[in-house]
Amino acid sequence: MKDQNISRKALVANRQSLMRTFIRPENTAARDTLVKYMEQILFGLHDFLNTHVGITEELSLKELSERYKNTLISENPEKMLADVITDLIEEIAPHAVNVASPFFVGHMTSAIPFFMVHLKTIVAALNQNVVKLETSKVLSVIEKQVLAKIHRIIYRKEDNFYNEHVQNIQTSLGCFTENGTLANLTALWVARNSRFAPKEGFEGADKEGIYAAYKAYGIERSVIIVSQLGHFSLKKAGGILGIGNRNIIPIETDRTCRIDIKNLKEKINELRKSPVRTKIIAIVGIAGTTETGTVDPLRQIGEICVENGIHFHVDAAWGGPVLLSDKYRHLLDGIDLADSVTIDGHKQFYMPMSSGMVYFKDPCKMDSIIYHANYVNRLGSVDLGIKSLSGSREANSLILDSALKIMGSGGYALLIEHGIETAKSFAEEINSRPDFELITPPELNILTYRICPIELKRELTGSNDTQRNAINERLNEINITVQRLQRESGKSFVSRTTLKTYKEHPESIVVLRCVIMNPLTDIHILRDILDEQEEIYSSFEVRRP
Ligand SMILES: *Cc1c(COP(=O)(O)O)cnc(C)c1O
Repeated sequence: MKDQNISRKALVANRQSLMRTFIRPENTAARDTLVKYMEQILFGLHDFLNTHVGITEELSLKELSERYKNTLISENPEKMLADVITDLIEEIAPHAVNVASPFFVGHMTSAIPFFMVHLKTIVAALNQNVVKLETSKVLSVIEKQVLAKIHRIIYRKEDNFYNEHVQNIQTSLGCFTENGTLANLTALWVARNSRFAPKEGFEGADKEGIYAAYKAYGIERSVIIVSQLGHFSLKKAGGILGIGNRNIIPIETDRTCRIDIKNLKEKINELRKSPVRTKIIAIVGIAGTTETGTVDPLRQIGEICVENGIHFHVDAAWGGPVLLSDKYRHLLDGIDLADSVTIDGHKQFYMPMSSGMVYFKDPCKMDSIIYHANYVNRLGSVDLGIKSLSGSREANSLILDSALKIMGSGGYALLIEHGIETAKSFAEEINSRPDFELITPPELNILTYRICPIELKRELTGSNDTQRNAINERLNEINITVQRLQRESGKSFVSRTTLKTYKEHPESIVVLRCVIMNPLTDIHILRDILDEQEEIYSSFEVRRP
């Protein structure tokens, strides 16, 4: 009782207690608690995550949301620092998701090397703002250096090109962004502004807006073309850039989930002949689609763009780092034709959330999005905020630059190769099991499959359309249920999506999706996951009326 009174008294928002917590732990108890958990996080990350994070499925989302309905901020501190930290670790972390588990293979968010947390901590501690030189200094030049390093693995220009541009304050090889969505938006913003560049009597699309741009260029519509597997961030860009997201035109893929070049060419011709005068702002090739991991024929798309003077953007948010593997970089053949490239840092560069990047072949291309404000960045300075969608932004380049030093391109290559090769073995395993069907084989490290019990497989062959639809309906139900039950039981996680694959299934079917990027995920774990799915299926199949 007495102790409680003492700590209650300490929970007052006055200057003295504020300063006590602003500068250092408020007392030895707080210090000991911080040290205890930070030691676990910084030096035993993977054990820490296994012990503390996502270990319980006891509480449903509904129950959890009941706990978080307090909308009042208390004027005085509610708790001592040590108690807040303890709550974070003991009460909150268990209900987060252990994305680092090698059994968590459903999404593009996975384990990161432990030292990333150290690097992130240093970035937070320095708290630099790369919007301008005055708040970042060396971090601005480090960003330019690491951008040049990655630009180099994409475009492989000569030494003198990089010598000229690595620290050139007039030119930009790219930009860090918060994620792939903003990288895609930046690329398409540049493409739109270049397409509707200033000319006699017109001051450019950014200044005058899209209506004036169409008038100046004598058109009524502009479009961006991408395969039907394009990421939904492209649609957002269509909305934001004012061209309308229904003008992000999807092209049907072929049987291998790559954009069908014949369809693409037909669409270009059709748009050209359209009575509504239309301009194509950009064609997007995907290097690793989000759902199937497949890579569009980049060289062919690039050549079509060159021929027609269209901006070629490659969305390599997922697949970009494959360029670090000598063994597999050929899968992205043609990426050097891209006018712009998106790569996510928080995906296969294994950086912590959240980090993306966009690259431009032409170091002057970003001039079409120059903005400056006198109080923050002056024209002609190195301030990175001049050519960036974001304003204030953390110095994530430090993390990538350090990680490249710590692991080397060879280390990254091993991570990439492990993913691709494990996905291949997994595909073989799926093919060898009679109750499964591989739907999209892995080109990179993503594959989709479904549970398709042997008796239903037999029924499918030789069924007519109506019968096939009915069987697929049933299979969809089975896969939805198994995926849910497996997730709820809390050991493994694969995701699910709906695909139209043109294979044996012209209609959309529900598939299970596996993304293999955790170096600790091996074929034994993947077999366990299939075993568990078989078990779940047979247990509820038995109970069917
Ligand atoms: C993940 C992804 C994006 C979007 O990236 P975010 O970082 O989630 O904003 C864009 N395109 C592709 C192909 C992706 O896989």
